[in-house]
Amino acid sequence: ESGKGPRPIRRLEDTVVNRIAAGEIIHRPANALKELIENSLDAGATNIQILIKDGGLKLLQIQDNGHGIRREDMAIVCERFTTSKLKSFEDLSRISTFGFRGEALASISHVAHVTITTKTADSNCAYRACYSDGKLIPSKPGASAEPKACAGNTGTQITQSSNQVDVNTLSTASKLENIRQIYGSTASELLDLEKHFRKLDLKVNGFISNANYNLKKMRISISTDRAVESVALKRNIEGVYETYLPKNSYPFVYLSLDINPQCVDVNVHPTKREVRFLNEEEIVAAVGDAIQERLVGANCSRIFLTQT
Ligand code: ADP
Ligand code: MG
Repeated sequence: ESGKGPRPIRRLEDTVVNRIAAGEIIHRPANALKELIENSLDAGATNIQILIKDGGLKLLQIQDNGHGIRREDMAIVCERFTTSKLKSFEDLSRISTFGFRGEALASISHVAHVTITTKTADSNCAYRACYSDGKLIPSKPGASAEPKACAGNTGTQITQSSNQVDVNTLSTASKLENIRQIYGSTASELLDLEKHFRKLDLKVNGFISNANYNLKKMRISISTDRAVESVALKRNIEGVYETYLPKNSYPFVYLSLDINPQCVDVNVHPTKREVRFLNEEEIVAAVGDAIQERLVGANCSRIFLTQT
């Protein structure tokens, strides 16, 4: 488009308008919590329970013993400008509730997933419904979006959770992709490592950071048929990297050892985390050599850059 003439005026889509509006009301989880507490108080609650995870970014849940929300109102309760507290403009002059604009739940539903479980005194069961962008949505793919009958006490529970999962390993993902998923930028510039020591009946494979990359904290994950700790192996790996990395900086190492289970003693510690190997010295030295060799050869080989 040219920079000179006026650009056409367009009507913003509803979802855009609503998200912008939501941002004016909900800046932080604390704003959402304030609105939710006010709603509980407006509902005559005498008991309010609040559950918060990660400062409210992961989870915010509030439960009250107020008058609840009627089943027939559940479809519109999270829409913008829907309220039970104000009917006419005149009512504004004698408003005695905290809320009246009917925007809080709508705003929250535009920035988070909202689940409402609620029961009024004269209903014989509670109802639960999920919301997104102001509207009812199915609680899981394929389910109906309609509020579902469930058990519950009179009152309302509202859960506001982020839709971001902590870890999501896709069934189609490679090992390297899963490592990146879990460790993020910690696992940058990884070299693949694969080595078979026939004499020791040992296969080593995994991913290790190269000599250009270093961490403030050492990250060495070792697994045999399970995740294990081996002080001897860790020390050796640390020693190998010492010659490549600046002082007080550490590598990222993710290793699987394919080894005869009979050569691994898991019974050295009650948690079974720390293991000893039969031929420990040889095995530790072999793994160290494999890493050393890979680091030396790294210049002429492929580096996996992590994008985060
Ligand atoms: P407002 O509080 O301005 O009316 P909200 O979006 O905060 O708007 O809430 C919309 C409506 O949902 C309220 O008017 C009320 O009828 C109902 N509501 C919300 N939270 C609760 C609650 N904890 N208990 C009972 N009703 C509630
Ligand atoms: Mg309110």
